[in-house]
Amino acid sequence: MRMVELIEKKRDGGSLSRQEIEMFVQRYTLGEIPDYQVSALLMAILLRGMTDQETRDLTLAMVASGERLDLSDIAGVVVDKHSTGGVGDKVSLVAAPTVAATGLPVGKMSGRGLGFSGGTLDKLESIPGYRVDLTVPQFKQQLREIGIVLTGQSANLAPADGKLYALRDVTGTVPSLPLIVSSIMSKKIAAGADAIVLDVKVGSGAFMKTLDEARALAEDMVRIGRAVGRKVAAHIADMNQPLGCAVGNSLEVVEALETLRGGGPADLAEHSLTIAGEMLALGGLAENLEAGVEQAATTIRSGAALAKFRELVVAQGGDGRYVDEPDRFPRADHVKTIRAPQCGYVAAMEASEIGIAVVTLGGGREEKGQAIDHRVGVVMHVEVGDRVAPDTSLFTVHAATSEGLAAAATRILRCMQFSDTPVDPLPLFYDRIA
Ligand code: URA
Repeated sequence: MRMVELIEKKRDGGSLSRQEIEMFVQRYTLGEIPDYQVSALLMAILLRGMTDQETRDLTLAMVASGERLDLSDIAGVVVDKHSTGGVGDKVSLVAAPTVAATGLPVGKMSGRGLGFSGGTLDKLESIPGYRVDLTVPQFKQQLREIGIVLTGQSANLAPADGKLYALRDVTGTVPSLPLIVSSIMSKKIAAGADAIVLDVKVGSGAFMKTLDEARALAEDMVRIGRAVGRKVAAHIADMNQPLGCAVGNSLEVVEALETLRGGGPADLAEHSLTIAGEMLALGGLAENLEAGVEQAATTIRSGAALAKFRELVVAQGGDGRYVDEPDRFPRADHVKTIRAPQCGYVAAMEASEIGIAVVTLGGGREEKGQAIDHRVGVVMHVEVGDRVAPDTSLFTVHAATSEGLAAAATRILRCMQFSDTPVDPLPLFYDRIA
């Protein structure tokens, strides 16, 4: 079958057969189909959707596009977590070392920023020397030796996703349920963890805008994971405002370090403990979620989680002094705090606009493979429900140029709404599928 026929079939609302999906995934991975045809197919999938069967076939074809990691020789159950992507989401940087320090191996392959959402790899690379390109033998050796790995997706694992992910980032084809399900689950299945905790975000700063969409995504991913013998649990979490205060790579690492020291923003700390607690429960180290959360909190209080993060950084070539002294992270040249334009309450914000402001500052990519500026970003000082007056600091912009600073400040101010009457704070989580 010719690729153009597949595009036309999906464009006209048809369903692709398993053979057709396998053909397109295999040939694209081998470089036999050009980006422009795959972009067209991705857009047709985004507009027309996929059946459950097509989504499962796409996921398994993406797993089959490379090798599968066998972690059965690593002692104990290996857990992994994955977020569907959000703004200011640095939970992996806190939860993974916390779980590993409690005694459960965490082997995680993370991604880069996608659209307006940041990526764990870009954040970790703001630590000088940190390597995100471990080979599979290095991944396994480090997991055995120190019980934690946070690296990039190995080129050999679900390579189809690596290529599709980079193409979706720059073709407006990220927010598609089947594409997100297959992207996440192909990587998780190929990466070999026994237990997987999914952090599914919903709201203005997430790819899923409604609770129904987020639930459908969570349920699809849990179903596919269980069908291939993995233990899977999902949490549906709010993303109508950034998670924590910092958005932007090194600013987020600094905030994660504060949280690992037992401080940090309350929402980030609670969110990270919940995900860590679920990982401990699913991995069999805690009796249930509540016990897991308690164990995670104890591990952070003892300093063991921070020490594990340092061990991870050093093992992957990073400079451990940045963990000890976060003031070492270079600051952007232009830093300015913006104050509230009026009295009232913060009623809402468009979190994706804050993410886009950071991409525009240079903290994310607008083209495939673009270099990013790790120093730039935004630190929010208010959240929905907070009372403000004209002298209240709303947010601080860290920019490379004064023009960039002004543009980001205007964009963020424009996406915030204020109300004269009190507004309820947003919940952290909406649901759990366990
Ligand atoms: N995270 C992924 O790994 N893939 C997506 O498509 C979206 C979020």
